[in-house]
Amino acid sequence: MAPDATAPLALTIPDALTGPGAKKPKLIDSSDGLGSDAAFRVASALSSLNVQRLCAADSVDAFARRVIARGDAPEHFYVFDLAAVLERWRVWTTSLPRVTPFYAVKCNPDRAMLTLLASLGTGFDCASPAEIELVRSLGVGPERIIYAHCCKMQADIAHAAGVGIQLTTYDTEAELDKIAKGHPDVGLVLRIRADDVAARCNLGDKYGSEEQEWEPLLAAAKARGLSVVGISFHVGSGATNPAAFPIAVAKAREAFNMAQAMGFNMRVLDLGGGYSGNLTGGVTMAAVAAALNSALEEHFPAAEGVRVIAEPGRYFAEPGMTLYTRVFGKRVRERAGQDSRYYWVADGVYGSMNCLIYDHAVLAVRHFPEQEGAVAPGPLLPTTIYGPTCDGMDTLMRGCPLPELQLGDWLQWPSMGAYTLAAGSAFNGFDSQAVDVHYVFTGAQ
Ligand code: PLP
Repeated sequence: MAPDATAPLALTIPDALTGPGAKKPKLIDSSDGLGSDAAFRVASALSSLNVQRLCAADSVDAFARRVIARGDAPEHFYVFDLAAVLERWRVWTTSLPRVTPFYAVKCNPDRAMLTLLASLGTGFDCASPAEIELVRSLGVGPERIIYAHCCKMQADIAHAAGVGIQLTTYDTEAELDKIAKGHPDVGLVLRIRADDVAARCNLGDKYGSEEQEWEPLLAAAKARGLSVVGISFHVGSGATNPAAFPIAVAKAREAFNMAQAMGFNMRVLDLGGGYSGNLTGGVTMAAVAAALNSALEEHFPAAEGVRVIAEPGRYFAEPGMTLYTRVFGKRVRERAGQDSRYYWVADGVYGSMNCLIYDHAVLAVRHFPEQEGAVAPGPLLPTTIYGPTCDGMDTLMRGCPLPELQLGDWLQWPSMGAYTLAAGSAFNGFDSQAVDVHYVFTGAQ
């Protein structure tokens, strides 16, 4: 089952799934590129999760084949390779050494991934009391949380005050009235608008203050005796233009200067999300890091002592999760003069594939033969894949070239970790959260 927000983690891997070399799993150590303190924390986190460490000769796909071969595999399941999360963290810390990631929990609140990130010392971007409580339940203190929601309910502000949240974002005057009433001591971060107009998901229409609003919003905070301590932006999720980041940093500098001139003690710059890692399109980390590092040097030199954080979601969550679905329905039909195939699988747009709608995702799928290297016979045929519900909209792929499949054959969906399970529903009685998630850690020596 996908871990729920509060349940204790009890992840066990049945013996039947043990792969080559896994009998003596080597816990992570400093040879994995971590300092010894971090290596110890990560090793403890992984062993507390009982994650299956796979040796270098083993793989996620081989593990998935062992799940399938067991004979009692459900209609669909995930394999989550936590090594992908660690790798992303390594690349982040070497590419953006001045920027502390505050992982955006909304993207995928998977408790095992959060535990790993917490052990690596990241902070967390939370947008609701439930997310704050989830992160707190891992032993993360309020100083490692930013309540990065510009428009909060009064009761939620009271909750944040109760647990000692020290940073929150705002971009309207009305928000300041609620904060003055419920948490006047919190450090305010003014969110400014700085869009990558080509981002996959625009956020700037809803959040982020326009330039002409900065001064009145800062003055409104001053008038209420509140402390503005930082500036944030989000260029848009799934950004595609690396140049959007330095443009946003330059804008943030202007807002910083304005706030400093008004007497605020400005000490936080929050670079938001939008980092894709370029698996399914979007900016590469190398391009963003090059652009951001020089923009930071120009506008926020290290000597100034401003704390720089960011709120990456997709970057950490996307690569590690692979979904496997069994074909449980089939139709053969001629369409527009072409022999076509139609298959049904157990996950759909009301489940993990809600990303097709809300995240404007483009999914990849391939046939996953039970025997490695096996090839389904016959030509590739134009294929439609449906989700399990009765809704016609629950259609995942159209015209996708796949070999002829039979009931019981498997499909593999890579890079399914971002904005997938997080927003799945139980529409039509198909509970998308009731999916098995197997946790592995690839690459052991
Ligand atoms: N921060 C905020 C306030 C967001 O709304 C989001 C996503 O919507 C994120 C961070 C994470 O963005 P991404 O997954 O693109 O990094």
